[in-house]
Amino acid sequence: MAENGKLKPAERMKIQRQAMPARDAGVRSRCFEEVNLGLPEQIAMEEAKRCLECKDRKCVTGCPVQIDIPAFVTRVAAGDFAGAAEVLLNDNALPGISGRVCPQEKQCEVLCIRAKKGEPVAIGYLERFVADWASEHRNGHVATLASPTGFKVAIVGSGPAGLTAAGELAKKGHEVTVFEAFHKPGGVLVYGIPEFRLPKEIVRKEVESLKAIGVKIECNVVIGRTYTIDDLMKEEGFQAVFIANGAGLPVFMGIPGENLKGVYSANEYLTRVNLMKAYEANSDTPVLRAKKAVVIGGGNTAMDGVRTARRLGADPATLVYRRSRAEMPARIEEVHHAEEEGVVFQMLTLPIEILGDEKGWVRGLKCQKMQLGEPDKSGRARPVPIPGSEFEIPCDVVVEAIGTRANPLLTQTTPDLKVNEKGYLVVDADNMTSKAGVFAGGDIVRGAATVILAMGDGKRTAATMDRYLKEKAQRHEGGSGKTGGAGIPSVGRQ
Ligand SMILES: Cc1cc2nc3c(=O)[nH]c(=O)nc-3n(C[C@H](O)[C@H](O)[C@H](O)COP(=O)(O)OP(=O)(O)OC[C@H]3O[C@@H](n4cnc5c(N)ncnc54)[C@H](O)[C@@H]3O)c2cc1C
Ligand code: SF4
Repeated sequence: MAENGKLKPAERMKIQRQAMPARDAGVRSRCFEEVNLGLPEQIAMEEAKRCLECKDRKCVTGCPVQIDIPAFVTRVAAGDFAGAAEVLLNDNALPGISGRVCPQEKQCEVLCIRAKKGEPVAIGYLERFVADWASEHRNGHVATLASPTGFKVAIVGSGPAGLTAAGELAKKGHEVTVFEAFHKPGGVLVYGIPEFRLPKEIVRKEVESLKAIGVKIECNVVIGRTYTIDDLMKEEGFQAVFIANGAGLPVFMGIPGENLKGVYSANEYLTRVNLMKAYEANSDTPVLRAKKAVVIGGGNTAMDGVRTARRLGADPATLVYRRSRAEMPARIEEVHHAEEEGVVFQMLTLPIEILGDEKGWVRGLKCQKMQLGEPDKSGRARPVPIPGSEFEIPCDVVVEAIGTRANPLLTQTTPDLKVNEKGYLVVDADNMTSKAGVFAGGDIVRGAATVILAMGDGKRTAATMDRYLKEKAQRHEGGSGKTGGAGIPSVGRQ
């Protein structure tokens, strides 16, 4: 041990990566309770001691929101959980969420120096540990609020981008209203990612703490229908708008049989189960409980869909993916968990037709075997069909989880918002759209991406919106001689 009471690097190197305790696979494949149970304090401290406190902090460069990872991890190692929470919450408003769903193996952990000679520090597990500790021991956000500016800001969509921006803007003293089309706030965190991966109580608490600092959330309001962006700015007195409405419009494969009864988009299937709690006996919204389900795709959405089908009783619940396992974009932990829960992986398989019975119900999926060829534009090996390899998988439900795209509702009603060829909003370096005072971030700009990237956009855009509003106010004051927020509401209409 070194003089300061800390372990020497060689001692730290001897500590093995700690495992995350998880609910038994047999039990959890029949219920929606959270799979991972969280690290106990002593185990978290032991894991944190593995950090070498590197000077060049490679792990931080891999984090889209630049969390000061060694600073919070070393505090955990010392048992200073309050200090760790201070550091973490300063960089990341929603660590309980990112600690659970971030693809750490592709971000911070892949760059951790310890990965070179073994396993990386379990940064994600430690982030979750600190977030849960803070949620239990600290009362909501410890936010210092700036004095009111008099500016009104509207946010469209309450996913991770919208919620993060809302919190940041409220802390800067602006009056923030979030408009959400669904009856509950949270975006994909609530309607897409299942309870067994991200308990909704965590999202609810985050929303409550935003409300506690003055953020107003209006659900059941569809921007583009209830109000247009122009209505918000011209009639409702908002001086700036942040569009964070995600990219939730499902994409289908376009194969025969997609109109059969028993075919869902992953979006619809997961929304029915997660948001409408279709698995509860008294739920108003039904979902088909497949005897044999097939889910098509290889990402997190597909993994959530097939594990949900398994929990609703499907046996087998089969995942069909046209490439090989190595190319699956889903988080590695979810793939392991799915496997433990008995999900069948049908790799290198391309669905070519959904087969129906005489009454129009799904009875099977016709597929073709694939082999890997030359790399395509994405750099991944291109799947090539093997002639004569067609076969059928019997099933009564098919869920397509092959991607989503932008919903055109909002842009159709605001034609001065520039979109790219895929329908996503075009923004400048400050995340401002082609319309003055209207900013955007998250999936509606990036296309389907990740929670942490959406949160990063929310945080960065809040800073540029704050600057935009204050600069506008200064120009206004320069012209009219007025001072203070009360004279400012006309800024957005200039
Ligand atoms: C099933 C599933 C699993 C995923 N798993 C992971 C994971 O494990 N890890 C990870 O990092 N990422 C994951 N992702 C991706 C991640 O959830 C998204 O990248 C992220 O949620 C995008 O955030 P956002 O705030 O841009 O949009 P969203 O979360 O999509 O939120 C947009 C919100 O805007 C609302 N809205 C839409 N249109 C309007 C309108 N006109 N008016 C008002 N409100 C509107 C929507 O109802 C929604 O609530 C997953 C995605 C899905 C679908
Ligand atoms: S790279 Fe790994 S060992 Fe180094 S500071 Fe980051 S978490 Fe610690």
